[in-house]
Amino acid sequence: MSIPIYTYDAIVVGAGLAGCAAARELQNAGKKVAVITKLHPLRSHSGAAQGGINAAFSDEDSVELHEFDTVKGSDYLADQDAVEFMCQKAPETIRWAERMGAAFSRTPDGKIAQRPFGGQSSPRACYAKDRTGLTLLQTVYEQADRAGVKFWDEWYAADIIYKDGKVSGVVAFNIRDMQMAIFNAKSVMFATGGYARAYKINSNAHANTGDGLSIVARHGLPLEDMEFVQFHPSGLSGNGVLISEAARGEGGRLFNSKGERFMEKYAPNALELASRDVVARAILNEIREGRGVGPRKDAVFLDVTHLGKDLIMERLPELRELAITFLGLDMIKEPILISATAHYSMGGIPVDIDGHARLNNEEFIEGFYAAGECSCVSVHGANRLGANSVLEAILFGRFVGKTMVTDIDNIELRPANEKDAQRALDEVAFLLDNNGDEKVPTLREELQQCMTTNAGAFRTQETLQIAVDKVKELRERFKNIRIQDKSTVFNTELQEAIEFGHMLDYSLFIVESGIARKESRGAHYREDYQTRDDENFLKHTMAYMDENGNIKLDYMDVILGKHKLQERNY
Ligand SMILES: Cc1cc2nc3c(=O)[nH]c(=O)nc-3n(C[C@H](O)[C@H](O)[C@H](O)COP(=O)(O)OP(=O)(O)OC[C@H]3O[C@@H](n4cnc5c(N)ncnc54)[C@H](O)[C@@H]3O)c2cc1C
Repeated sequence: MSIPIYTYDAIVVGAGLAGCAAARELQNAGKKVAVITKLHPLRSHSGAAQGGINAAFSDEDSVELHEFDTVKGSDYLADQDAVEFMCQKAPETIRWAERMGAAFSRTPDGKIAQRPFGGQSSPRACYAKDRTGLTLLQTVYEQADRAGVKFWDEWYAADIIYKDGKVSGVVAFNIRDMQMAIFNAKSVMFATGGYARAYKINSNAHANTGDGLSIVARHGLPLEDMEFVQFHPSGLSGNGVLISEAARGEGGRLFNSKGERFMEKYAPNALELASRDVVARAILNEIREGRGVGPRKDAVFLDVTHLGKDLIMERLPELRELAITFLGLDMIKEPILISATAHYSMGGIPVDIDGHARLNNEEFIEGFYAAGECSCVSVHGANRLGANSVLEAILFGRFVGKTMVTDIDNIELRPANEKDAQRALDEVAFLLDNNGDEKVPTLREELQQCMTTNAGAFRTQETLQIAVDKVKELRERFKNIRIQDKSTVFNTELQEAIEFGHMLDYSLFIVESGIARKESRGAHYREDYQTRDDENFLKHTMAYMDENGNIKLDYMDVILGKHKLQERNY
Protein backbone atom coordinates (compact mmCIF):
# COMPACT_ATOMS: atom_id res chain seq x y z
CA MET A 1 0.00 0.00 0.00
CA SER A 2 1.43 3.35 -0.89
CA ILE A 3 1.76 5.96 1.82
CA PRO A 4 0.46 9.47 1.20
CA ILE A 5 2.94 12.31 1.65
CA TYR A 6 1.54 15.70 2.67
CA THR A 7 3.75 18.75 2.50
CA TYR A 8 3.56 21.77 4.79
CA ASP A 9 5.82 24.61 5.88
CA ALA A 10 5.42 23.57 9.49
CA ILE A 11 3.94 20.70 11.47
CA VAL A 12 2.92 21.10 15.09
CA VAL A 13 2.31 17.92 17.08
CA GLY A 14 -0.10 18.58 19.94
CA ALA A 15 -3.12 20.86 20.22
CA GLY A 16 -2.97 21.96 23.83
CA LEU A 17 -2.18 25.57 24.72
CA ALA A 18 1.40 25.38 23.41
CA GLY A 19 0.51 23.77 20.09
CA CYS A 20 -2.54 25.93 19.34
CA ALA A 21 -0.70 29.16 20.23
CA ALA A 22 2.24 28.26 17.95
CA ALA A 23 0.04 27.17 15.05
CA ARG A 24 -1.93 30.39 15.17
CA GLU A 25 1.28 32.46 14.89
CA LEU A 26 2.47 30.42 11.92
CA GLN A 27 -0.85 30.56 10.13
CA ASN A 28 -1.25 34.31 10.68
CA ALA A 29 2.22 34.84 9.20
CA GLY A 30 1.05 33.15 6.02
CA LYS A 31 2.81 29.81 6.59
CA LYS A 32 1.11 26.57 5.67
CA VAL A 33 0.77 24.75 8.97
CA ALA A 34 -0.87 21.54 10.15
CA VAL A 35 -1.50 20.41 13.72
CA ILE A 36 -1.45 16.69 14.39
CA THR A 37 -3.20 15.63 17.58
CA LYS A 38 -4.29 12.29 18.94
CA LEU A 39 -7.20 13.97 20.75
CA HIS A 40 -9.68 16.59 19.73
CA PRO A 41 -7.85 19.84 20.63
CA LEU A 42 -10.32 20.73 23.38
CA ARG A 43 -9.67 17.40 25.09
CA SER A 44 -5.97 18.22 25.53
CA HIS A 45 -4.85 18.23 29.15
CA SER A 46 -4.48 22.04 29.11
CA GLY A 47 -8.28 22.10 29.32
CA ALA A 48 -8.08 20.44 32.76
CA ALA A 49 -5.98 23.22 34.30
CA GLN A 50 -8.01 24.59 37.13
CA GLY A 51 -6.30 27.12 39.34
CA GLY A 52 -4.69 29.88 37.35
CA ILE A 53 -2.01 31.55 35.29
CA ASN A 54 0.65 33.80 36.83
CA ALA A 55 1.44 37.36 35.89
CA ALA A 56 2.82 40.11 38.11
CA PHE A 57 0.79 43.25 37.47
CA SER A 58 -0.87 44.27 40.71
CA ASP A 59 0.45 47.29 42.63
CA GLU A 60 1.94 45.11 45.39
CA ASP A 61 3.69 42.78 42.95
CA SER A 62 6.60 43.06 40.52
CA VAL A 63 8.16 41.12 37.65
CA GLU A 64 11.32 40.81 39.69
CA LEU A 65 9.44 39.17 42.57
CA HIS A 66 7.84 36.74 40.11
CA GLU A 67 11.32 35.89 38.83
CA PHE A 68 12.67 35.49 42.35
CA ASP A 69 9.81 33.21 43.44
CA THR A 70 10.21 31.09 40.30
CA VAL A 71 13.98 30.71 40.72
CA LYS A 72 13.65 29.94 44.42
CA GLY A 73 10.80 27.51 43.68
CA SER A 74 13.04 25.78 41.14
CA ASP A 75 15.64 25.22 43.87
CA TYR A 76 17.98 27.31 41.72
CA LEU A 77 18.07 24.85 38.82
CA ALA A 78 16.00 27.03 36.45
CA ASP A 79 17.82 28.92 33.70
CA GLN A 80 17.44 32.52 34.76
CA ASP A 81 17.44 34.00 31.24
CA ALA A 82 14.36 31.93 30.42
CA VAL A 83 12.71 32.80 33.75
CA GLU A 84 13.27 36.51 33.12
CA PHE A 85 11.81 36.25 29.64
CA MET A 86 8.72 34.43 30.91
CA CYS A 87 8.05 36.72 33.86
CA GLN A 88 8.53 39.88 31.81
CA LYS A 89 6.19 38.72 29.08
CA ALA A 90 3.56 37.35 31.49
CA PRO A 91 1.39 40.49 31.90
CA GLU A 92 1.32 41.03 28.15
CA THR A 93 0.35 37.39 27.67
CA ILE A 94 -2.68 37.85 29.91
CA ARG A 95 -3.76 40.90 27.93
CA TRP A 96 -3.19 39.01 24.67
CA ALA A 97 -5.40 36.14 25.85
CA GLU A 98 -8.02 38.56 27.08
CA ARG A 99 -8.13 40.47 23.82
CA MET A 100 -8.72 37.20 22.01
CA GLY A 101 -11.73 36.54 24.21
CA ALA A 102 -10.65 34.76 27.41
CA ALA A 103 -12.97 35.84 30.23
CA PHE A 104 -11.01 36.07 33.50
CA SER A 105 -12.71 36.34 36.89
CA ARG A 106 -12.90 39.95 38.15
CA THR A 107 -12.62 41.92 41.37
CA PRO A 108 -15.68 44.01 42.37
CA ASP A 109 -14.06 47.08 40.76
CA GLY A 110 -13.59 45.33 37.45
CA LYS A 111 -9.89 44.40 37.56
CA ILE A 112 -8.65 40.91 36.73
CA ALA A 113 -8.80 38.98 40.01
CA GLN A 114 -5.66 37.22 41.28
CA ARG A 115 -5.41 34.50 43.91
CA PRO A 116 -2.49 33.40 46.08
CA PHE A 117 -0.65 30.22 45.07
CA GLY A 118 2.14 28.23 46.71
CA GLY A 119 5.62 29.75 46.82
CA GLN A 120 4.44 33.16 45.58
CA SER A 121 5.15 36.42 47.41
CA SER A 122 1.91 38.03 46.23
CA PRO A 123 -1.49 36.94 44.87
CA ARG A 124 -0.51 36.46 41.25
CA ALA A 125 -2.61 33.74 39.66
CA CYS A 126 -5.23 35.12 37.27
CA TYR A 127 -8.11 32.73 36.89
CA ALA A 128 -11.47 31.96 35.38
CA LYS A 129 -13.24 30.40 38.39
CA ASP A 130 -11.54 26.99 38.64
CA ARG A 131 -11.72 26.40 34.88
CA THR A 132 -8.79 28.55 33.80
CA GLY A 133 -7.26 26.07 31.37
CA LEU A 134 -10.52 25.34 29.61
CA THR A 135 -11.28 29.04 29.15
CA LEU A 136 -7.83 29.67 27.70
CA LEU A 137 -7.79 26.58 25.51
CA GLN A 138 -11.20 27.36 24.05
CA THR A 139 -10.00 30.86 23.23
CA VAL A 140 -6.67 29.94 21.67
CA TYR A 141 -8.04 26.95 19.77
CA GLU A 142 -10.95 29.00 18.46
CA GLN A 143 -8.59 31.71 17.21
CA ALA A 144 -6.23 29.18 15.61
CA ASP A 145 -9.18 27.56 13.88
CA ARG A 146 -10.50 30.93 12.79
CA ALA A 147 -7.08 31.82 11.34
CA GLY A 148 -7.37 28.73 9.15
CA VAL A 149 -5.00 26.26 10.84
CA LYS A 150 -5.55 22.74 9.52
CA PHE A 151 -6.16 20.37 12.46
CA TRP A 152 -5.59 16.67 11.88
CA ASP A 153 -7.33 15.41 14.97
CA GLU A 154 -7.39 11.78 16.02
CA TRP A 155 -4.09 11.34 14.21
CA TYR A 156 -1.31 9.70 16.19
CA ALA A 157 2.26 10.89 15.63
CA ALA A 158 4.40 7.76 15.69
CA ASP A 159 7.82 9.03 14.61
CA ILE A 160 9.82 12.01 13.42
CA ILE A 161 11.81 11.98 10.21
CA TYR A 162 15.31 12.60 11.51
CA LYS A 163 18.65 12.36 9.76
CA ASP A 164 22.01 14.08 10.13
CA GLY A 165 21.01 16.67 12.70
CA LYS A 166 17.86 17.71 10.84
CA VAL A 167 14.15 16.96 11.30
CA SER A 168 12.07 17.11 8.12
CA GLY A 169 8.67 15.77 9.07
CA VAL A 170 6.44 13.49 11.08
CA VAL A 171 5.07 10.02 10.46
CA ALA A 172 1.53 9.63 11.80
CA PHE A 173 -1.46 7.34 11.49
CA ASN A 174 -5.14 8.02 11.40
CA ILE A 175 -6.64 6.50 14.54
CA ARG A 176 -9.91 5.83 12.70
CA ASP A 177 -8.40 3.39 10.18
CA MET A 178 -4.71 3.07 11.13
CA GLN A 179 -3.66 4.46 7.74
CA MET A 180 -0.08 5.74 7.91
CA ALA A 181 0.89 9.07 6.32
CA ILE A 182 4.01 11.18 6.04
CA PHE A 183 3.89 14.88 6.87
CA ASN A 184 6.90 16.46 5.20
CA ALA A 185 7.85 19.94 6.41
CA LYS A 186 10.65 22.45 6.79
CA SER A 187 10.06 22.63 10.51
CA VAL A 188 8.41 20.53 13.18
CA MET A 189 7.36 21.50 16.66
CA PHE A 190 6.52 19.11 19.49
CA ALA A 191 3.91 20.29 22.01
CA THR A 192 2.94 16.84 23.21
CA GLY A 193 2.43 17.59 26.91
CA GLY A 194 3.34 15.74 30.09
CA TYR A 195 4.00 12.17 31.15
CA ALA A 196 2.75 11.57 34.68
CA ARG A 197 0.81 8.52 33.45
CA ALA A 198 3.89 6.46 34.24
CA TYR A 199 2.68 6.65 37.86
CA LYS A 200 -0.20 4.70 39.37
CA ILE A 201 -1.50 7.68 41.38
CA ASN A 202 -1.50 10.67 39.06
CA SER A 203 -3.57 13.71 38.15
CA ASN A 204 -3.12 13.46 34.40
CA ALA A 205 -5.37 12.66 31.46
CA HIS A 206 -5.13 9.13 30.03
CA ALA A 207 -3.43 10.61 26.97
CA ASN A 208 -0.43 11.95 28.95
CA THR A 209 1.83 9.07 28.04
CA GLY A 210 4.90 11.10 27.08
CA ASP A 211 4.94 9.86 23.48
CA GLY A 212 6.84 12.89 22.22
CA LEU A 213 9.74 12.33 24.59
CA SER A 214 10.32 8.70 23.70
CA ILE A 215 9.89 9.37 19.97
CA VAL A 216 12.71 11.90 20.20
CA ALA A 217 14.87 9.78 22.53
CA ARG A 218 14.73 6.77 20.22
CA HIS A 219 16.76 8.75 17.69
CA GLY A 220 19.56 9.16 20.22
CA LEU A 221 18.54 12.76 20.95
CA PRO A 222 18.77 14.10 24.51
CA LEU A 223 16.17 14.53 27.25
CA GLU A 224 16.90 16.99 30.03
CA ASP A 225 16.28 16.81 33.81
CA MET A 226 13.94 13.83 33.61
CA GLU A 227 14.40 12.96 37.31
CA PHE A 228 12.31 15.98 38.30
CA VAL A 229 8.70 14.82 38.47
CA GLN A 230 6.33 17.00 40.46
CA PHE A 231 4.05 15.42 43.04
CA HIS A 232 1.11 17.71 43.68
CA PRO A 233 0.04 17.84 47.34
CA SER A 234 -3.66 17.45 46.76
CA GLY A 235 -4.93 14.56 44.71
CA LEU A 236 -8.19 12.93 45.79
CA SER A 237 -7.42 9.97 48.00
CA GLY A 238 -7.18 6.70 46.11
CA ASN A 239 -7.21 7.96 42.53
CA GLY A 240 -5.07 11.11 42.45
CA VAL A 241 -7.66 13.28 40.63
CA LEU A 242 -6.51 16.84 41.13
CA ILE A 243 -7.90 19.27 43.67
CA SER A 244 -6.23 22.46 42.53
CA GLU A 245 -3.91 24.49 44.70
CA ALA A 246 -6.63 27.12 44.36
CA ALA A 247 -8.33 25.35 47.29
CA ARG A 248 -5.34 26.19 49.50
CA GLY A 249 -4.87 29.53 47.74
CA GLU A 250 -8.37 30.54 48.80
CA GLY A 251 -7.56 29.55 52.40
CA GLY A 252 -7.87 25.75 52.62
CA ARG A 253 -6.05 24.08 55.57
CA LEU A 254 -4.46 20.68 56.04
CA PHE A 255 -5.00 18.52 59.14
CA ASN A 256 -3.73 15.11 60.28
CA SER A 257 -5.52 12.45 62.34
CA LYS A 258 -4.66 14.30 65.58
CA GLY A 259 -6.38 17.42 64.32
CA GLU A 260 -3.01 19.19 64.00
CA ARG A 261 -2.44 21.79 61.31
CA PHE A 262 0.82 20.02 60.57
CA MET A 263 2.25 22.50 58.02
CA GLU A 264 3.18 24.65 61.03
CA LYS A 265 6.01 22.18 61.58
CA TYR A 266 7.29 22.04 58.02
CA ALA A 267 6.86 25.59 56.70
CA PRO A 268 6.13 27.92 59.63
CA ASN A 269 5.71 31.01 57.45
CA ALA A 270 4.08 29.88 54.23
CA LEU A 271 2.13 26.96 55.82
CA GLU A 272 -0.14 25.33 53.20
CA LEU A 273 1.25 27.70 50.58
CA ALA A 274 4.85 26.54 50.67
CA SER A 275 6.11 25.18 47.36
CA ARG A 276 4.56 21.95 46.15
CA ASP A 277 7.49 19.66 46.81
CA VAL A 278 7.59 20.83 50.44
CA VAL A 279 3.84 20.37 51.05
CA ALA A 280 3.71 17.01 49.24
CA ARG A 281 6.56 15.58 51.31
CA ALA A 282 4.99 16.94 54.52
CA ILE A 283 1.72 15.13 53.73
CA LEU A 284 3.47 11.88 52.91
CA ASN A 285 5.56 12.16 56.04
CA GLU A 286 2.47 12.57 58.23
CA ILE A 287 1.00 9.47 56.63
CA ARG A 288 4.23 7.46 56.98
CA GLU A 289 4.47 8.36 60.66
CA GLY A 290 0.96 7.04 61.30
CA ARG A 291 -1.03 10.27 61.40
CA GLY A 292 -2.99 9.61 58.20
CA VAL A 293 -6.77 9.70 57.96
CA GLY A 294 -9.44 7.90 55.92
CA PRO A 295 -10.32 4.21 55.72
CA ARG A 296 -6.77 3.26 54.67
CA LYS A 297 -5.06 5.97 56.74
CA ASP A 298 -3.32 7.06 53.53
CA ALA A 299 -4.64 10.63 53.30
CA VAL A 300 -4.86 13.89 55.22
CA PHE A 301 -7.78 16.31 55.55
CA LEU A 302 -8.12 19.34 53.31
CA ASP A 303 -10.62 21.62 54.97
CA VAL A 304 -12.29 24.59 53.25
CA THR A 305 -15.55 24.57 55.24
CA HIS A 306 -14.63 27.85 56.99
CA LEU A 307 -14.65 29.65 53.61
CA GLY A 308 -18.41 29.28 53.42
CA LYS A 309 -20.79 28.11 50.75
CA ASP A 310 -20.88 31.34 48.73
CA LEU A 311 -17.15 31.58 48.20
CA ILE A 312 -16.81 27.88 47.41
CA MET A 313 -19.65 28.03 44.89
CA GLU A 314 -18.23 31.13 43.29
CA ARG A 315 -14.56 30.23 43.08
CA LEU A 316 -14.23 26.47 43.49
CA PRO A 317 -17.38 24.90 42.02
CA GLU A 318 -15.56 22.37 39.85
CA LEU A 319 -13.39 21.14 42.73
CA ARG A 320 -16.46 20.63 44.86
CA GLU A 321 -18.07 18.59 42.08
CA LEU A 322 -14.96 16.41 41.75
CA ALA A 323 -14.86 15.59 45.47
CA ILE A 324 -18.59 14.77 45.48
CA THR A 325 -18.28 12.57 42.38
CA PHE A 326 -15.20 10.62 43.39
CA LEU A 327 -15.34 10.55 47.20
CA GLY A 328 -18.96 11.40 48.02
CA LEU A 329 -17.70 14.28 50.18
CA ASP A 330 -19.13 17.79 49.93
CA MET A 331 -16.44 20.31 50.81
CA ILE A 332 -19.01 22.90 51.80
CA LYS A 333 -19.98 20.64 54.70
CA GLU A 334 -16.91 18.54 55.53
CA PRO A 335 -13.15 18.17 55.00
CA ILE A 336 -12.10 16.01 52.06
CA LEU A 337 -9.38 13.33 51.85
CA ILE A 338 -6.29 14.10 49.81
CA SER A 339 -2.74 12.93 49.28
CA ALA A 340 0.17 13.56 46.91
CA THR A 341 -0.33 12.69 43.23
CA ALA A 342 2.15 12.59 40.30
CA HIS A 343 1.33 15.72 38.39
CA TYR A 344 3.86 17.46 36.23
CA SER A 345 7.11 16.89 34.40
CA MET A 346 9.74 19.57 34.83
CA GLY A 347 12.12 17.86 32.40
CA GLY A 348 11.73 17.13 28.72
CA ILE A 349 13.08 17.95 25.28
CA PRO A 350 15.91 20.45 25.86
CA VAL A 351 15.37 23.75 24.08
CA ASP A 352 16.82 27.26 24.16
CA ILE A 353 14.66 30.33 24.88
CA ASP A 354 13.54 30.45 21.25
CA GLY A 355 12.42 26.83 21.30
CA HIS A 356 15.26 25.33 19.22
CA ALA A 357 15.71 21.72 20.28
CA ARG A 358 19.21 20.70 21.33
CA LEU A 359 21.32 18.05 19.63
CA ASN A 360 23.75 18.23 22.57
CA ASN A 361 25.11 20.90 24.94
CA GLU A 362 26.45 23.03 22.09
CA GLU A 363 24.49 22.25 18.93
CA PHE A 364 20.87 22.40 17.83
CA ILE A 365 18.73 20.21 15.60
CA GLU A 366 17.77 21.94 12.39
CA GLY A 367 14.03 22.36 11.89
CA PHE A 368 13.02 21.00 15.30
CA TYR A 369 11.33 22.88 18.14
CA ALA A 370 9.43 22.14 21.33
CA ALA A 371 7.29 24.08 23.80
CA GLY A 372 4.98 23.46 26.73
CA GLU A 373 5.19 20.63 29.19
CA CYS A 374 7.10 18.25 26.88
CA SER A 375 9.95 20.74 26.66
CA CYS A 376 12.61 21.80 29.15
CA VAL A 377 13.59 25.42 28.61
CA SER A 378 14.11 25.38 31.79
CA VAL A 379 11.86 27.79 33.66
CA HIS A 380 10.87 25.31 36.40
CA GLY A 381 14.24 23.76 37.26
CA ALA A 382 13.76 21.18 40.00
CA ASN A 383 10.25 22.25 41.01
CA ARG A 384 7.55 24.22 39.23
CA LEU A 385 5.41 26.80 40.99
CA GLY A 386 1.66 26.49 40.60
CA ALA A 387 0.17 28.59 37.75
CA ASN A 388 3.54 28.93 35.98
CA SER A 389 2.88 26.06 33.60
CA VAL A 390 -0.19 27.27 31.76
CA LEU A 391 1.80 30.49 31.45
CA GLU A 392 4.79 28.63 30.05
CA ALA A 393 2.69 26.66 27.56
CA ILE A 394 0.77 29.58 26.13
CA LEU A 395 3.68 32.06 26.21
CA PHE A 396 6.46 29.87 24.84
CA GLY A 397 4.01 28.25 22.40
CA ARG A 398 3.31 31.65 20.96
CA PHE A 399 6.93 32.86 20.88
CA VAL A 400 8.33 29.61 19.51
CA GLY A 401 5.72 29.90 16.75
CA LYS A 402 7.17 33.33 15.97
CA THR A 403 10.73 31.91 15.92
CA MET A 404 9.60 29.25 13.47
CA VAL A 405 8.12 31.93 11.21
CA THR A 406 11.50 33.70 11.11
CA ASP A 407 13.56 30.55 10.68
CA ILE A 408 11.47 28.88 8.00
CA ASP A 409 12.75 30.89 5.07
CA ASN A 410 16.28 29.76 5.80
CA ILE A 411 15.41 26.08 5.98
CA GLU A 412 15.37 23.91 2.91
CA LEU A 413 12.70 21.27 2.57
CA ARG A 414 14.29 17.83 2.48
CA PRO A 415 11.83 15.76 0.44
CA ALA A 416 10.44 12.69 2.18
CA ASN A 417 9.94 9.25 0.75
CA GLU A 418 8.04 6.15 1.81
CA LYS A 419 11.09 4.64 3.51
CA ASP A 420 10.84 7.36 6.16
CA ALA A 421 7.77 5.60 7.53
CA GLN A 422 9.53 2.24 7.88
CA ARG A 423 10.29 2.46 11.61
CA ALA A 424 6.68 3.30 12.43
CA LEU A 425 5.35 0.61 10.09
CA ASP A 426 7.65 -1.98 11.66
CA GLU A 427 6.53 -0.99 15.15
CA VAL A 428 2.85 -1.39 14.26
CA ALA A 429 3.44 -4.62 12.33
CA PHE A 430 5.34 -6.14 15.26
CA LEU A 431 2.57 -5.30 17.73
CA LEU A 432 -0.18 -6.63 15.47
CA ASP A 433 1.61 -9.82 14.45
CA ASN A 434 3.38 -10.84 17.65
CA ASN A 435 1.66 -13.72 19.36
CA GLY A 436 3.23 -13.80 22.81
CA ASP A 437 1.44 -14.17 26.11
CA GLU A 438 1.89 -10.79 27.80
CA LYS A 439 -0.86 -8.17 27.97
CA VAL A 440 -0.45 -4.39 28.03
CA PRO A 441 -2.78 -3.68 31.01
CA THR A 442 -0.85 -6.10 33.21
CA LEU A 443 2.56 -4.73 32.26
CA ARG A 444 1.36 -1.13 32.58
CA GLU A 445 -0.06 -1.77 36.04
CA GLU A 446 3.28 -3.21 37.15
CA LEU A 447 5.18 -0.22 35.74
CA GLN A 448 2.89 2.36 37.34
CA GLN A 449 2.86 0.61 40.69
CA CYS A 450 6.65 0.33 40.65
CA MET A 451 7.17 3.98 39.73
CA THR A 452 4.81 5.21 42.45
CA THR A 453 6.49 3.01 45.07
CA ASN A 454 10.12 3.44 44.04
CA ALA A 455 10.50 6.67 42.08
CA GLY A 456 8.01 8.84 43.93
CA ALA A 457 8.35 11.85 46.21
CA PHE A 458 10.89 9.94 48.38
CA ARG A 459 13.68 8.00 46.69
CA THR A 460 16.90 6.16 47.56
CA GLN A 461 19.63 4.42 45.59
CA GLU A 462 17.98 1.14 46.46
CA THR A 463 14.42 2.04 45.39
CA LEU A 464 15.58 3.67 42.18
CA GLN A 465 17.64 0.58 41.35
CA ILE A 466 14.56 -1.58 41.89
CA ALA A 467 12.77 0.65 39.39
CA VAL A 468 15.60 0.42 36.83
CA ASP A 469 15.56 -3.36 37.07
CA LYS A 470 11.79 -3.46 36.80
CA VAL A 471 11.67 -1.25 33.71
CA LYS A 472 14.30 -3.45 32.05
CA GLU A 473 12.38 -6.60 32.97
CA LEU A 474 9.15 -5.10 31.57
CA ARG A 475 10.94 -4.17 28.36
CA GLU A 476 11.94 -7.80 27.89
CA ARG A 477 8.43 -8.99 28.63
CA PHE A 478 6.99 -6.40 26.24
CA LYS A 479 8.80 -8.24 23.43
CA ASN A 480 6.46 -11.11 24.22
CA ILE A 481 3.30 -9.03 23.86
CA ARG A 482 0.04 -10.06 22.29
CA ILE A 483 -2.81 -7.79 21.38
CA GLN A 484 -6.20 -9.32 20.85
CA ASP A 485 -7.65 -6.77 18.46
CA LYS A 486 -6.10 -7.22 15.01
CA SER A 487 -8.51 -4.82 13.28
CA THR A 488 -7.75 -1.44 11.72
CA VAL A 489 -10.77 0.45 13.04
CA PHE A 490 -10.16 2.58 16.14
CA ASN A 491 -7.72 -0.02 17.41
CA THR A 492 -7.26 1.44 20.88
CA GLU A 493 -5.53 -1.72 22.06
CA LEU A 494 -2.81 -1.18 19.46
CA GLN A 495 -2.54 2.50 20.38
CA GLU A 496 -2.21 1.64 24.07
CA ALA A 497 0.58 -0.80 23.26
CA ILE A 498 2.47 1.90 21.35
CA GLU A 499 1.93 4.32 24.23
CA PHE A 500 3.12 1.75 26.74
CA GLY A 501 6.36 1.34 24.75
CA HIS A 502 6.85 5.09 25.13
CA MET A 503 6.13 4.94 28.87
CA LEU A 504 8.81 2.29 29.34
CA ASP A 505 11.48 4.31 27.56
CA TYR A 506 10.99 7.64 29.30
CA SER A 507 10.54 5.93 32.68
CA LEU A 508 14.06 4.58 32.31
CA PHE A 509 15.27 8.17 31.81
CA ILE A 510 13.49 9.22 35.03
CA VAL A 511 15.05 6.53 37.17
CA GLU A 512 18.56 6.47 35.63
CA SER A 513 18.83 10.25 35.87
CA GLY A 514 17.52 10.04 39.44
CA ILE A 515 20.07 7.44 40.54
CA ALA A 516 22.94 9.58 39.30
CA ARG A 517 21.73 12.74 41.05
CA LYS A 518 23.03 12.08 44.53
CA GLU A 519 21.48 15.10 46.22
CA SER A 520 18.01 16.43 47.11
CA ARG A 521 16.78 19.34 45.06
CA GLY A 522 13.19 20.45 44.54
CA ALA A 523 10.98 17.52 43.63
CA HIS A 524 13.88 15.07 43.56
CA TYR A 525 14.22 14.03 47.20
CA ARG A 526 16.84 11.40 48.03
CA GLU A 527 16.52 10.03 51.55
CA ASP A 528 20.12 8.88 51.29
CA TYR A 529 21.35 12.37 50.25
CA GLN A 530 19.03 14.77 51.99
CA THR A 531 20.65 18.10 51.16
CA ARG A 532 21.18 20.12 48.03
CA ASP A 533 24.74 19.78 46.72
CA ASP A 534 25.52 22.84 44.60
CA GLU A 535 29.15 21.93 44.29
CA ASN A 536 28.49 18.72 42.41
CA PHE A 537 24.93 18.98 41.10
CA LEU A 538 24.10 22.55 40.20
CA LYS A 539 23.75 21.32 36.62
CA HIS A 540 21.15 19.98 34.22
CA THR A 541 21.08 16.29 33.41
CA MET A 542 21.33 15.54 29.69
CA ALA A 543 20.45 11.90 29.04
CA TYR A 544 20.74 9.93 25.81
CA MET A 545 19.51 6.46 24.87
CA ASP A 546 21.79 4.27 22.76
CA GLU A 547 20.73 1.64 20.17
CA ASN A 548 20.56 -1.02 22.88
CA GLY A 549 18.17 1.07 24.94
CA ASN A 550 20.73 1.96 27.61
CA ILE A 551 20.89 5.46 29.06
CA LYS A 552 24.08 7.53 28.95
CA LEU A 553 24.29 10.63 31.12
CA ASP A 554 25.93 13.98 30.54
CA TYR A 555 25.46 17.35 32.25
CA MET A 556 24.93 20.92 31.12
CA ASP A 557 25.56 24.20 32.95
CA VAL A 558 22.70 26.07 34.58
CA ILE A 559 22.32 29.66 33.38
CA LEU A 560 22.57 31.69 36.56
CA GLY A 561 21.66 35.35 36.93
CA LYS A 562 20.84 38.06 39.39
CA HIS A 563 19.02 35.79 41.85
CA LYS A 564 21.84 34.36 43.94
CA LEU A 565 21.88 30.88 45.44
CA GLN A 566 20.28 30.68 48.87
CA GLU A 567 19.01 28.02 51.16
CA ARG A 568 15.34 27.48 50.42
CA ASN A 569 12.94 27.98 53.35
CA TYR A 570 9.23 28.71 53.35
C1 LIG B 1 -5.51 18.43 36.41
C2 LIG B 1 -4.47 19.46 36.07
C3 LIG B 1 -4.61 20.76 36.50
C4 LIG B 1 -3.64 21.72 36.18
N1 LIG B 1 -3.81 23.00 36.62
C5 LIG B 1 -2.88 23.94 36.28
C6 LIG B 1 -3.06 25.30 36.67
O1 LIG B 1 -4.06 25.67 37.27
N2 LIG B 1 -2.10 26.18 36.33
C7 LIG B 1 -0.97 25.82 35.64
O2 LIG B 1 -0.13 26.67 35.34
N3 LIG B 1 -0.80 24.53 35.25
C8 LIG B 1 -1.73 23.59 35.54
N4 LIG B 1 -1.55 22.30 35.11
C9 LIG B 1 -0.44 21.98 34.19
C10 LIG B 1 -0.76 22.51 32.79
O3 LIG B 1 -2.14 22.40 32.55
C11 LIG B 1 -0.02 21.78 31.69
O4 LIG B 1 1.34 21.67 31.99
C12 LIG B 1 -0.14 22.51 30.35
O5 LIG B 1 -1.48 22.83 30.08
C13 LIG B 1 0.44 21.67 29.23
O6 LIG B 1 0.11 22.22 27.99
P1 LIG B 1 0.73 21.61 26.66
O7 LIG B 1 0.20 22.45 25.54
O8 LIG B 1 2.19 21.50 26.80
O9 LIG B 1 0.19 20.11 26.57
P2 LIG B 1 -1.28 19.47 26.64
O10 LIG B 1 -2.34 20.44 26.87
O11 LIG B 1 -1.18 18.30 27.55
O12 LIG B 1 -1.48 18.94 25.15
C14 LIG B 1 -0.75 17.85 24.61
C15 LIG B 1 -1.22 17.61 23.20
O13 LIG B 1 -0.36 16.67 22.58
C16 LIG B 1 -1.11 15.75 21.82
N5 LIG B 1 -0.31 14.53 21.69
C17 LIG B 1 0.44 13.91 22.63
N6 LIG B 1 1.03 12.81 22.10
C18 LIG B 1 0.65 12.76 20.81
C19 LIG B 1 0.92 11.87 19.73
N7 LIG B 1 1.72 10.80 19.87
N8 LIG B 1 0.34 12.11 18.53
C20 LIG B 1 -0.48 13.20 18.35
N9 LIG B 1 -0.76 14.05 19.34
C21 LIG B 1 -0.20 13.84 20.54
C22 LIG B 1 -2.42 15.62 22.58
O14 LIG B 1 -3.45 15.20 21.71
C23 LIG B 1 -2.63 17.06 23.07
O15 LIG B 1 -3.32 17.80 22.08
C24 LIG B 1 -2.51 21.34 35.42
C25 LIG B 1 -2.37 20.03 35.00
C26 LIG B 1 -3.31 19.08 35.34
C27 LIG B 1 -3.08 17.67 34.90
